[in-house]
Amino acid sequence: TSPANYVYTFLQPIITELFALATDGMEVTTIEGESINAKVHLLLFTGDTLAVADLINHRGHSHKYGCRICPIAGVYNGGTYFHGKASSHTPRSVDSYRTLNETLGITRSPIAFHPDFRGPAFFGLDEMHLFGQNLARRLREYFRPYPDRNILPDVETRNYPFLLTDNRTMKHVGQDMVKSRPLLPGHFDGNWTDISSGSSRAVDWIDFMLYALPTLVIPYLTNKKSKEILNNLVIACHLSLRWEVRPEDMNFVRNAMSRYQVFLDTNAQGGHISRKSQPVQIHYLGHVSYIMQCLGPMPAYSCRSLERTIGQYKQMSISKNKKGPSLQIKLEDRLIKNIADAHSAAQENVNEDGELCVLKGKRYKIDGDAFAKLRRALKRYLARMGLGGGNDGVEGWSFYGQMERDGKVYRSVCSVGGDI
Ligand SMILES: [Zn+2]
Repeated sequence: TSPANYVYTFLQPIITELFALATDGMEVTTIEGESINAKVHLLLFTGDTLAVADLINHRGHSHKYGCRICPIAGVYNGGTYFHGKASSHTPRSVDSYRTLNETLGITRSPIAFHPDFRGPAFFGLDEMHLFGQNLARRLREYFRPYPDRNILPDVETRNYPFLLTDNRTMKHVGQDMVKSRPLLPGHFDGNWTDISSGSSRAVDWIDFMLYALPTLVIPYLTNKKSKEILNNLVIACHLSLRWEVRPEDMNFVRNAMSRYQVFLDTNAQGGHISRKSQPVQIHYLGHVSYIMQCLGPMPAYSCRSLERTIGQYKQMSISKNKKGPSLQIKLEDRLIKNIADAHSAAQENVNEDGELCVLKGKRYKIDGDAFAKLRRALKRYLARMGLGGGNDGVEGWSFYGQMERDGKVYRSVCSVGGDI
């Protein structure tokens, strides 16, 4: 049995529950004593590339059909590489995730039969791994000192598209980053330090790409076309990481990513850069605008919160020789505490304005504007997914503060009286 097959042995309980909640739903008793049938819809099921590959029985990034979004055929060259622009390939169909016999690298998986499954966008696309772990690191490797593992054919000639003036290297860039640190406002996610120091995390790499690359590297490029391509690529990443994305932004992102991919391909064909410059992570950039069209801004389905959760589990002190049972006891303890918290929260009174929420016994005011935004976003999403019978059906949605299931009282974080 491959590791992929293990995924569903522990996901099965939650998968069964998610199917039941999306089809049969659950009976909810509202704070006003009204009984409604509520269904729970699954918006997306995401993780990093490797986790999603296991989830959908995809043969992964080294396979000929190594893209989970489109059926592009990769070329084997010591690894599998995907040339040209991704946006010219039509996304895989819903049925292609449900076939019994392997088709283009994918065999059917339980999640592909979930009633809310709508195709490749269902698995998101994580900005942290895509930009931080991959793109930013690869961009750095275009410049001296070049890493040994990525020997480029043409690096010392004028044909090399990423040549810098004045013999500038990444060592100078690192020194400039350290020097500029005291002058910067402190609003970066990362540490803003020499990116070559070896201790950099994904957030540091993203800062490097968004802020250091356009100021400390790109202006020194000798090749005008490279300047333009990389500048637009960085702008596309900025736009992709915003919480609000307009249709013209998505067009810009699609064009900038496509032009970068074509630029790499042309230079690889001309023998100026390595043919290995386009692994699947670079190919996925071409799908960013498609994913944003389906799911909205990338921070909304980023893996950053998942990574923090992994950090929490890693920090737990669990028994070395009985890891499984030890973790189970810890999780059960936490569950009991959560239920107890929910019960005590349910004893509290809602204020007259009905706009308070209760979280761990503390009270938080929810700002009316934020709530209206949330509601609009939900309505747009439901309309796009064709849920609730189109726009008309969506009008009936409202939020309730409290519900009962199997005799237990649960309270939602947001407690709002009546229709909002
Ligand atoms: Zn693709």
